[in-house]
Amino acid sequence: MRAIVTRSRVISIPVTTGFQCAGCGKWHDELPLDLGYDEPMYVAELDEDERARCVTKFGDFRELRRDGETHHFVRGVIEIPILGMTKR
Ligand SMILES: [Zn+2]
Repeated sequence: MRAIVTRSRVISIPVTTGFQCAGCGKWHDELPLDLGYDEPMYVAELDEDERARCVTKFGDFRELRRDGETHHFVRGVIEIPILGMTKR
């Protein structure tokens, strides 16, 4: 079920759900409720050599040193409640 929010109300439209899981490679019939990225965009867009040369990884932290600048990234989690769904 997909919810579309208009200016005044929420409309539910039945749609086929499911997704190819990046974790296990299988098809899951439910909505993907955990979305995430392996790396920050600025790290992911680097080629393998540049990433090895410029990026330091420590847990959920990344340090990118490039063009005389240093950038720091940390993985964050944002929980967004969905109307009509029970907490899991
Ligand atoms: Zn899976």
